[in-house]
Amino acid sequence: MGMPQRKRLRTTVTDNQKSDLFDQLPDDLVLYILCKLSSSASCPSDFINILITCKRLKRLALNPLVLSKAGVKTFAIKAKRWSDSAHQFLERCVDAGNREALYTLGMIRFYCLQNRGNGASFMAKAAIKSHALALYSLAVIQFNGSGGSKNNKNLRAGVALCARAAVLGHIDALRELGHCLQDGYGVLQNIVEGRRLLVQANAKELTLSLRSMLTWKPQQQQQQQAEEQQNLHFACTVMGTTSITGCSLLSDFGCNVPAREVHPVNEFLKEWFESGIGVLHPGLRLCSHSGCGRPETRPHEFRRCSVCSTVNYCSRGCQAQDWKLRHKVECVPTEQWQEVLEDGDHGIGGMVEMEEGEDVAVV
Ligand SMILES: [Zn+2]
Ligand SMILES: [Zn+2]
Repeated sequence: MGMPQRKRLRTTVTDNQKSDLFDQLPDDLVLYILCKLSSSASCPSDFINILITCKRLKRLALNPLVLSKAGVKTFAIKAKRWSDSAHQFLERCVDAGNREALYTLGMIRFYCLQNRGNGASFMAKAAIKSHALALYSLAVIQFNGSGGSKNNKNLRAGVALCARAAVLGHIDALRELGHCLQDGYGVLQNIVEGRRLLVQANAKELTLSLRSMLTWKPQQQQQQQAEEQQNLHFACTVMGTTSITGCSLLSDFGCNVPAREVHPVNEFLKEWFESGIGVLHPGLRLCSHSGCGRPETRPHEFRRCSVCSTVNYCSRGCQAQDWKLRHKVECVPTEQWQEVLEDGDHGIGGMVEMEEGEDVAVV
């Protein structure tokens, strides 16, 4: 009686080895898990590695449902790793209706691959799906007339796009809208309403800073606090990366808070042009805000700081952020600066149009 039992046991083990338990999982369940993975991946390889695991996982991972859920960090591709397959992966996600992929590929095509029409149309598709960053990026393009001449600037369209992005909670769009109303730039002047929106934008920024400070400090304390203390002064003056260190609005009151997280596509743009993968033609410059990466599409497209003339920005939002992170300790004070300080946005300088016949401060 002992022998048959041992035999049966051996047979059972062999059967288990032959049929993988994974094969017994229904497709629906695997798809559900892959959707969770693609939406919460912290870097592209978290998800892409699935594609080289086995045929079944590859097939299910490329299911449109999974691709439509892929989150922003799944597309955090490094410029140095840009390839046909990375491009194709983004296209598959676009085809699956993923609005983050539409925005990312739109930005890359517009600015890096200089396929302006196609890039703008992808961003417009993301904007139709209420993607706030796409709406704001399109506003920046309209305000600057990017990809065309200065006659292609469409201030009214820029204001309308900003208004939609602001409703969706985009702080830079709200600030831009406030300035437009205050200055009568692309919209009927309404100084009181403009001021109100600027105050609202600063309040939102403050809330964001407070929230990130609350979530950020405990994580950093264990490993990096000592290092952060040493680097703080350096980080506030020379901003290399903006993901961990930096000083924001609260720094004015002696608090150290992390800078706003840079969107992966802005990291991509910056790396693309700074590493020399993308050639920036002579006379064209990158936006001076380290978290932007937008290049000029024609000479003097961006406006420069009206105080020192050494930096230039694609937008008010970039100017405001760079001022807090870096530029306020670099900008050379002049008599004009004092006037701006009294009248301006937290001591921030104005911006000057470079394309007009003479300098016109648009404080
Ligand atoms: Zn910028
Ligand atoms: Zn300056």
